[in-house]
Amino acid sequence: ILRVENLCKTYGEGKNEVKALDHISFSVNKGEFIAIIGPSGSGKSTLLRCATLLETMDGGDLIYLDDYAAKADENGKAVYGDKEVLQGVKKHFGLVFQNFNLFNHLSILENLCVAPMDLLGMGKEEARAQAMELLGMVGLAEKADAMPSQLSGGQKQRAAIARCLSMKPQIILFDEPTSALDPTMVSEVLAVIRNLAQQGMTMMIVTHEMEFAKNVSSRIFYMDQGIIYEEGTPQQIFENPQKERTRTFINRIREYRCTIRSKDYDLYGMQGEMTRFCNKYFINSNTQFRIQLLAEEMLHLVPLHMGEVEIALNYSEKNSSISMEFLLPKGCRSILNLEDSGNGAKDGNYLNPDNLETSIIQGLCDSMEEKVTEDNRIKLILTLRKQD
Ligand code: ADP
Repeated sequence: ILRVENLCKTYGEGKNEVKALDHISFSVNKGEFIAIIGPSGSGKSTLLRCATLLETMDGGDLIYLDDYAAKADENGKAVYGDKEVLQGVKKHFGLVFQNFNLFNHLSILENLCVAPMDLLGMGKEEARAQAMELLGMVGLAEKADAMPSQLSGGQKQRAAIARCLSMKPQIILFDEPTSALDPTMVSEVLAVIRNLAQQGMTMMIVTHEMEFAKNVSSRIFYMDQGIIYEEGTPQQIFENPQKERTRTFINRIREYRCTIRSKDYDLYGMQGEMTRFCNKYFINSNTQFRIQLLAEEMLHLVPLHMGEVEIALNYSEKNSSISMEFLLPKGCRSILNLEDSGNGAKDGNYLNPDNLETSIIQGLCDSMEEKVTEDNRIKLILTLRKQD
């Protein structure tokens, strides 16, 4: 459906030159769902923009089905087809942006009718019938007459996907479709995309939703420094990456740290920072709540009067697992040592099956372990139980 050969794109000149894309080649077959992942600045967006004619390539070929949008000349320079050719090519693909790009002065239904009527020559009744069907498919039939401003971000993005489908594209390209959304709305949009994948729609998505890329895509491109550095099935890329930079990226862990220095610490300030951290990595609100509860309950047990406590919240994108570490004050003994719980009150409250905090903490965690650090402090590591 889509073929790209030797795509090159450079921004700036001389000292400011940036090779955003360096001889990229790939093809997308019917029914494939390709997820493009990689660090910021690796060229993902530029690749998608070049493939959708929003950006001109310096060199290479760009072909949809058998229609060339651009062909390289003998020097490799990309030579684009004329306006008519490009208009033909544009009918083959649809693009879903980060920011929805709905027409704000038109109702949702009208948003879905304009392009099919203007560009596909569809009659009004047919366009409306198709629009209603597509809105039903993305769960928005009730919102047909609403204006975009009356919809939530997640609903707007679902409407944008329906609008894209109204043009019957052969392939849909998504440019970080959930990155402008409130974390609570990410899943409804991903669910719509997952449904399309199940129906066999050919798609390509730039995303930082690792779990989604892993579970739903059929192939992954890991981009780094302007090239497709490694590609493979989700299993190959996530479970057994062959190259160093892919491994580092896949296994990276996001971390939030803070130090609590006294019993009068700023609980609300800390919770605010944790919320910001969670929002940044699209950790859903239910999980955020459980993280905060865990921190709060633990801080009831930790003997803050004995000295500083360091907290680290770790988030592994690879398997979306969350753990929380508490580096206990110097001199503080084991908290997990249940047998010794009789002395707990002196050095802090040991985890004790009889107290409420302990049962809340145990309910929130999958595993709890303690390690002794080099300077003889105890580090308690709690892994948050996963929930759907
Ligand atoms: P990603 O989507 O992976 O974050 P981008 O495709 O946005 O990466 O960017 C790739 C490289 O190209 C980066 O170094 C970026 O700074 C540069 N770049 C992207 N767009 C422009 C632009 N319009 N002008 C100059 N440099 C750009």
